Amino acid sequence: MRYESGTAMLEPNPNLIDLVADARAGHDARFAGPAPIAAAAPGRVNLIGEHIDYCDGFVMPFAIDRYVVMVGRPNGGREARVASTVSEDIANIPLDDPLEPGATDWTKYLRGVIRGFQDRGHNVPGFDAFLVSSVPVGAGLSSSAALECAAATFLEGLLDTVIDTREKALLCQKAEHDFADVPCGIMDQFASAYGKPNRLVMIDCRSAEPELVPFDNPDLTVLIANTRVHHELSDGGYASRRKDTEKGLEILGKTSWRDVTEAEVLSHWDALGDPVNRRARHVVGEIARTIAAAAALGRNDFETLGPLMAASHDSLRDDFEVSCKELDTLVDLARRIGRKGGVIGARMTGAGFGGSTVTLCESRHADDIAAALATGYKAVTGIQADIFATRPERGAHQITG
Ligand code: ADP
Ligand code: MG
Repeated sequence: MRYESGTAMLEPNPNLIDLVADARAGHDARFAGPAPIAAAAPGRVNLIGEHIDYCDGFVMPFAIDRYVVMVGRPNGGREARVASTVSEDIANIPLDDPLEPGATDWTKYLRGVIRGFQDRGHNVPGFDAFLVSSVPVGAGLSSSAALECAAATFLEGLLDTVIDTREKALLCQKAEHDFADVPCGIMDQFASAYGKPNRLVMIDCRSAEPELVPFDNPDLTVLIANTRVHHELSDGGYASRRKDTEKGLEILGKTSWRDVTEAEVLSHWDALGDPVNRRARHVVGEIARTIAAAAALGRNDFETLGPLMAASHDSLRDDFEVSCKELDTLVDLARRIGRKGGVIGARMTGAGFGGSTVTLCESRHADDIAAALATGYKAVTGIQADIFATRPERGAHQITG
């Protein structure tokens, strides 16, 4: 997508019906036959509340109108045969024994989900399946959770069973932990599983209670700007940040970050030591910001919401150290456009180290803002960002017919 002229319109996201048709055509090309079972699960964007889903915090994501779609059918054998547009090779997964971690390719997520069903006592039969996706990979929009939730929903169809939404999300999170070795919190899988049109999935990560909050103001647009960079650090970086937060809690002698105040962090600053003290400051600050942001959004108080998003980004950049120069560039560009140009707030979204920013803006300015971000980002980095508008859409579901 190009916005260099400054007049180009934001393009609509790919239609889900078209994605399913593409997936079915792809399935037919590889496995010569129809694919009666179809499941879709969305990626997510988080408005605020970053790196605190594993710290008993609050998070404010929604399921975006970009999906992983998995289609297929039973094959009568004892193997899953699966392929994806991401990797054209057909992978064969024997299903006679419970699956074990170890795969390093994309099928690890699928294997983890199959194992979750096996652990629940299901005898997963052989199947053929093909995946297509409109969720950019490694862009901080959680294509991995979308893949897991699509796979779990596909398996529900294959096994003619229904799993409670929370159980399904937790099964998918466990797949990510055990098979992809990413110790993620509950945000991504909850957003993908629980998403609803025009709703944020506000999650109290201490109780793991999602609350669907209206987000349907047509005057607001959410722009996602994908830096299209992914720094290697992300592999160890996520786990090491999580360890820092665990260490901080231990030093503070608490069992939950919800019981820690900013004053306590400051009074234990030297005992916590660097960088744990700064990680701790991010966590308690971000929890407070997210609570304040939810209240501000509820009363359409954008003058409060914008600075909260800005403070979230600064804290992730300076205290949690998960931003990067490309993300900072996009956020700085949005800040320069400012409230007068229709920007309400901008920050990095997702785990960081690359990926995307989220810019909340006035709909009437969205095209111009997208154009300015693209032009400015290209000038600074030489990279053409991928920028699109998104809105809350339906979470993981089967497609019938
Ligand atoms: P993110 O979740 O932010 O997109 P991750 O690194 O957690 O980034 O997950 C990306 C990985 O998920 C990819 O490298 C690939 O293994 C897998 N993946 C995502 N979408 C697909 C897809 N449509 N088909 C196959 N694998 C996919
Ligand atoms: Mg992921």
